[in-house]
Amino acid sequence: FKNFAEKLKNAGNKWTQSVSNIFSDDPVTDDFWDELEESLILGDVGVDTTEELITELKRIMVERRITKRGELKAEFAGLLVSRLEAVPKMGAPLDLSAKPSVIIMIGVNGSGKTTTSGKLASQLKGEGKRVIMAAADTFRAAAIEQLKAWGGRAGVRVVAQAPESDPAAVVYDSIMAAKASGADVIIADTAGRLHTKSNLMEELSKIARVIKREIPEGPAEVLIVLDAVTGQNGFIQAETFAKAMPVTGVVLTKFDNTSKGGIVIAIADRLKMPIRYVGLGEGVDDLQLFEPKTFVETLLD
Ligand code: GDP
Repeated sequence: FKNFAEKLKNAGNKWTQSVSNIFSDDPVTDDFWDELEESLILGDVGVDTTEELITELKRIMVERRITKRGELKAEFAGLLVSRLEAVPKMGAPLDLSAKPSVIIMIGVNGSGKTTTSGKLASQLKGEGKRVIMAAADTFRAAAIEQLKAWGGRAGVRVVAQAPESDPAAVVYDSIMAAKASGADVIIADTAGRLHTKSNLMEELSKIARVIKREIPEGPAEVLIVLDAVTGQNGFIQAETFAKAMPVTGVVLTKFDNTSKGGIVIAIADRLKMPIRYVGLGEGVDDLQLFEPKTFVETLLD
């Protein structure tokens, strides 16, 4: 695998380019603060967080008697890293100590749940884990087929039932299959239809109850999949989902397609959820553990 920094650069995230250009050798003038503010807001960092970052950076500038833009770069990087790292488990690898460990993928349709399930299954299998996928998005027949296709490519078994069957029953089957075959990890892809929202939340709660009955520790990880292109518009949905299941982390997909790279800061600051993985493309290798320091270094490189 190429490393995270290289992937981020190759993903051609324009936002990182525009932020790094601001920290040139020129003197700090009012223009500098305007450019920084604009770039942070356009990047979806959020208005309040942008103001806070600028106030903190101004204070550092006065304190250290800094006059050149470039000299503020390391200070700004430090501010961003500490905001990201203020959220516990930011960038932490998945906790797969339970056997079997159930990873539940939740999020709205189109966010990239099925794709992420397939990428993750393939990567974990590559690390020597025995993986099963559960096709618990029984609402969309295409989702079952798509997951089976990923399973076929990765050589990972997919437990599925007919479309419209009970998703909790599919998850139950997958736990039985994992226990019988000694599998280490179950990745459960769930539905993300928004128009019948309350039913979906009940459905997710039922899945959580079934897991708890079979595995006392409950799900090992509940990952909410958020589309970076949607930016902060996805936050209300994330909060709704988090009520049905306690979220343990975010997978931020389509980061290769967004000009709102500041969304990572907003996820830390507003959602207070740790980002665990970033999706940087549609291929099996395009899922990377999120590394806050590498991210910020790449951003300001
Ligand atoms: P689901 O409805 O949440 O299961 O979403 P899908 O997994 O079907 O993904 C929706 C679309 O987004 C598909 O065309 C995926 O190939 C695409 N996709 C998912 N993750 C990424 C990513 O990180 N980058 C890019 N460019 N596309 C992605």
